[in-house]
Amino acid sequence: MKVTVDRAKCEGYAKCVGVSPKVFKLDEKFISVVIDPKADTDQKILFAAKVCPTKAIILEEEETGKRIFPEA
Ligand code: SF4
Repeated sequence: MKVTVDRAKCEGYAKCVGVSPKVFKLDEKFISVVIDPKADTDQKILFAAKVCPTKAIILEEEETGKRIFPEA
């Protein structure tokens, strides 16, 4: 699964980091960055994306590029 953070949408709530600290961390500007998209299960990462208040985490199928979350 491809995991991207929309830096324009992220407001540094760090909920994603709380759910999946091996995948997400806050950078020096308090914006979430993806450290390792394979460090957690897809299910856990989907949960992290769902708890993000600004829907800044974008999940896509690696091979097809099809959007998984948030729904377009
Ligand atoms: S939960 Fe969303 S807004 Fe908060 S740090 Fe993570 S990506 Fe950014």
